[in-house]
Amino acid sequence: MVRLYQSHKATVKKRGARLGQHFLTNTHYADVLAKSVAVREGETIVEIGPGKGALTQKLLATGARVIAIEKDEALAEELHTTFASDVVAGKLTIVIGDVRDFTPSGAYVVAANIPYYITGEIIKQFLTAEMQPRAMALLVQKEVAERIIARDKKESMLSLSVKVYGVPKIVAKVGRGNFSPPPSVDSAILLIEDITRDFFSDITERDFFKIVHAGFAAKRKMFGSNMTHLYDKEIVHRACGSVNIDPCIRAERLTILDWKRFTTSITCLCRPSSSQCQPT
Ligand code: SAM
Repeated sequence: MVRLYQSHKATVKKRGARLGQHFLTNTHYADVLAKSVAVREGETIVEIGPGKGALTQKLLATGARVIAIEKDEALAEELHTTFASDVVAGKLTIVIGDVRDFTPSGAYVVAANIPYYITGEIIKQFLTAEMQPRAMALLVQKEVAERIIARDKKESMLSLSVKVYGVPKIVAKVGRGNFSPPPSVDSAILLIEDITRDFFSDITERDFFKIVHAGFAAKRKMFGSNMTHLYDKEIVHRACGSVNIDPCIRAERLTILDWKRFTTSITCLCRPSSSQCQPT
């Protein structure tokens, strides 16, 4: 087994809720999750928190090589026994450690029933990694999945932070009764496909997220007035005008393309050679 250097609390004293240990008991959903990521020839599957191996088994059945990262040392040792022949055959690598210390490399996809206490961190870690996965299939809290796809047509920091890198969709809803012990919420399989940085070909991630953060800073305020924390009111109004955005709109009503156009426009207006700038 491989051991990761652990900068987070290394010892696992209390098992269970603290590590988000809700094991999948319905193998049908493990199968759906494993198939949804549609692993391709030459890709490795990275599994976060294999637990007792319900999903690991289905991932190995795809024929791909699997790297499974488990923080709970006792579970990792159990897995090592359960999957001894796959480990010996080089099909499965079990890594003991915190996924947050893991640096991915090569061509890979992520498939996991993740610990919900670090959902946001995991999604951000992989989407912004230098080496991004091609796709991610994750069992997450149902409400989080719905917020990410913006089911109610209201975008959020979270939904935009995912959509700038990939295309999210809900593959299946998974009731709490399919886990042991059952969590207090229902879950969903979220698939994020076509992960790239192409969205940032003509704007920087830094400018974009600075603007989106400011836009959502005060929820009840209008988009335009939130922006005046970063830029002059007059510049904000000019940028809004050039890309047809009503400054009185609420941030959640802007589409991802609106945010991109606004970022392009206002960063151009703030440059010394602003007359040259044409928003996309
Ligand atoms: N995949 C298994 C299943 O579907 O039955 C278990 C899923 S359970 C929701 C989450 C798993 O993640 C647990 O095995 C837990 O020990 C592990 N885990 C929790 N925090 C972790 C971390 N920071 N890094 C790696 N694994 C972690």
